[in-house]
Amino acid sequence: TYDTLSARTALVTGAASGMGAATAALLAAHGARVALLARREDRLTELAGRIGGRALPVTADVTDDESVAAAVRRIHDTYGRIDLAVNSAGVMLPNPVTDGRQDEWTRMLDTNVSGTLRVVRAVTPDLLSAAADGGPADLVNISSIGAHTVFPAYAVYSATKAAVTQLSASLRAELGPRNVRVTNIEPGLTATELGDHIDNDGLTAQLGGMFETLDALTAEDVADLVAYTTSRPRRVNLRQTVILPTGQA
Ligand code: NDP
Repeated sequence: TYDTLSARTALVTGAASGMGAATAALLAAHGARVALLARREDRLTELAGRIGGRALPVTADVTDDESVAAAVRRIHDTYGRIDLAVNSAGVMLPNPVTDGRQDEWTRMLDTNVSGTLRVVRAVTPDLLSAAADGGPADLVNISSIGAHTVFPAYAVYSATKAAVTQLSASLRAELGPRNVRVTNIEPGLTATELGDHIDNDGLTAQLGGMFETLDALTAEDVADLVAYTTSRPRRVNLRQTVILPTGQA
């Protein structure tokens, strides 16, 4: 049962599309109040409209310290303390390392790694306070199987995800003893907009081929895992989950 979610106040980054949007919608369907963070205001407004009264669209850019801080202030003003945070914002911009695409590396590092850290810094006081009051408190990071698997041309993306996985494990050691549950989720191929920003025709075609040969996960499959994980009794921490399409080797 996901019943306990009805008492939660969640912040979900990357809520404009994909796993973030699906997670926000599912948490809200189970009764949580959900703050939707991403850069595309129109998408957030549309999703909040679909969810109904339980959603707060907050346009924010995780690469910007002040934007994240302002978003959390708005959530506090509207909902009060956050007790569930999901870091789903991310970008995947593959190219051979030898192409030297510093612009892409900077975007991935600043979004996937530093962006996650900005949100962690902004929400940790709330999570610790919720846990100290005896309630559930969750931090969920969406990493990737790329954290472990070698894909040519995905070196920097995979490095950002390895960083997220290691960050989750270390944070869990810091926060677990204080009753904040830290969960790292590593999905495989999932049908979302993630691949739309690839600036390499061969790699776009390669990814398209994977979607043709594999029955990929849906964003809702990953959302369901987030909802399940965050609604267990607070002593139970599914600390690391690899979720793959059955057909993905
Ligand atoms: P999407 O592209 O659909 O979602 C990514 C979301 O991140 C978008 O809603 C985007 O919204 C938001 N975002 C990007 N940059 C920023 C920013 N600077 N500030 C705030 N929000 C931002 O892809 P997914 O749902 O697939 O991606 C979710 C996570 O899952 C990512 O971390 C990705 O790396 C990971 N993942 C995905 C896999 C897949 O196969 N799809 C597999 C493994 C992991 P906006 O542009 O409006 O800001």
